[in-house]
Order: sequence, then structure tokens, then C-alpha cells
Amino acid sequence: LRSAVAVDIGGTKLAAGVVDSTGRVWHADRVPTPVGGDGEVVWAALAGLIGAVRAAAAIAGAPPPGGVGVGCGGPMRWPQGVVSPLNIPGWRDFPLRQRLGELFGASPVRVHNDAIALAVAEHWRGAAVGRRDALGMVVSTGVGGGLVLGDRVMDGASGNAGHIGHVVVDPAGPGCACGGRGCLEAIASGPRTVAWALANGWRCAVAERRVLGARGRYGESLADGRGLVADARVGDVVAVAALARAGAALGVGIASALALCDVQVVVVGGGLAAAGDLLFDPLREALRRHARLGFTRAVPVVASALGPQAGLIGAAALVLAGNRYWSAD
Ligand SMILES: [Zn+2]
Repeated sequence: LRSAVAVDIGGTKLAAGVVDSTGRVWHADRVPTPVGGDGEVVWAALAGLIGAVRAAAAIAGAPPPGGVGVGCGGPMRWPQGVVSPLNIPGWRDFPLRQRLGELFGASPVRVHNDAIALAVAEHWRGAAVGRRDALGMVVSTGVGGGLVLGDRVMDGASGNAGHIGHVVVDPAGPGCACGGRGCLEAIASGPRTVAWALANGWRCAVAERRVLGARGRYGESLADGRGLVADARVGDVVAVAALARAGAALGVGIASALALCDVQVVVVGGGLAAAGDLLFDPLREALRRHARLGFTRAVPVVASALGPQAGLIGAAALVLAGNRYWSAD
């Protein structure tokens, strides 16, 4: 295949694009995920988006897509692609892979966990190119991950390998959405980091000026991850401490993952990773403290090279890279 339709499905946005086998995104667009609608409303929005993106990519001269790759928030039944994304209540046991198959006829359709798609993207065309063994992570609304070991994506028995967000980093820590306690995600996700900052007196001052001044968008919540990063960049003490807390927890979780999986590189993407050194310095400090075995000590932890398009590029790789990132039918 020379190009694929790539789809990235999350709780706040549906994204689609046409991506070629070099990883180039010819055309991509996104729409907000319909809120409160039933499953068919979400599906109609997605199908409409895919149609529009295909038409625009064809006009731009993209090679005609020969398959469909999808990264979707979990949980899902894999490889059937029957999805129940936590943040899309309208989709419960929604047969996404089957529906896309009906839309695209004979073309292959492959659906995987969105965090696995991100890890695949960085291994295929991003910061982990040339490494046989890599852990890819996303730190945004949640904390997710995927593993590529021996140049192959690790699916696990149910398609859920690499869920580093639910590795326990503090058994006495806060409760997690999964029902557990002290998971990495319960401490280091964007919303949990913002909540910690607010509870400790963060006033989102710069974020407010930025949004009201530059874009004039009133009435939206300013207390989000982007606002936190903006405030930390100008030295807001609480914002800096919040990112340091998240970074330290990430370092602890990654240290455990390195011991277990023996990878050569860790790639971290997602909204909170945009904080750069404000997140990565405390992360690496925690890593130095906890990753003490020789094979874990020198493993680089680097920022995503593909940025916001990693999800689409990884989704495309599911079908464009042969069976390197797909072990099912
Ligand atoms: Zn959890």
C-alpha cells in the first residue's frame, strides 16, 4: 500500500487524514467528538469527516488510500475492533472495525489502542526509528503507552500491553479512574496535575491573559494543561511544582518499565510533554534515582518527534508497514 486513511479517535476530538508510506500527512482534519449523542451520531460525524478528508487529499494529489488504520481510546475488544472508549459514552461495544469495513469494501481495516498507535508512530517514522526496542508514551488526558520489542509491537493477550498509566507508582497515592490506587495516571495525567496545582493555589494568571488577550475567547476553562505549562514557563512556583510532581511520578513509572522490558529508548508525547525540561528534568532525576541496573541506567527518554500528528501516523502504520505492527488477521 502507498497510502492509508488514518483515524485517531478520542474523547474530545475525532481526527482523520490520508498518510503515505513515508509518513507524510497529505491532508488531515478534525471535528469535536459529539457529546451526548448516541453511537450513530458519533459514527455519522466520523464517516463525514473521513469522506471530506479523502476528497481533499485526492485533490492535493495524495496516492489513493488502500486501507484504513485506526487508533482509538480503550477499552476495546481486540483485534475485533469492538470499542467502548471511556470518554465516548455513546460507543459501548461499538463495532468500529466492522463499520469501517462496510464503508471501505475490500480494503484492510485495522483498529488498535490509541496509545499503541502513538508508540508505533514514533518507532516507524519518529524519535525511535532504528531502535529495535522502544517504549512510547502519551501524557495528556490520560497516561498511555505502547511497546515495540524486537521491531514488533507488543499486543498482549487482549491487545492491552503497554498500559503504563496503570503501573502503580505510589500504593498510598490517589484513587485512579480504573478503580485502583496510586497508578501513574492518577498522579501524572494532565487533569490530575492541573487539579493538584489548583488545590495548591495555582491561579492560572498567564493562561488567562493569553487566552483573553490573544484570542478573546471568554467563558472557557483556563485551568487546563496548556495553561499550566504556560504559567510554569514564566516561573509560576505552583505550576512548576505541579509539573515536577508529574515528572517525578513518570520517572518512577518509567524506571519500573525499563527493568521489566529492557528497551533502548523511551519516547514521551502528549500535551503535558510540551512542557519540555519543566517535565523532563524532574523525570530524568527520578529516573537516575530509581533506574540503577546497568541496562536501565543510560536509556534516553526523549520527546515525541511527530507531535500532534503522531496518532494519525501510527494509525496509518498499522496498515502501511506490512505486518510489523499488526499480528492479528
Ligand atoms: Zn489505574
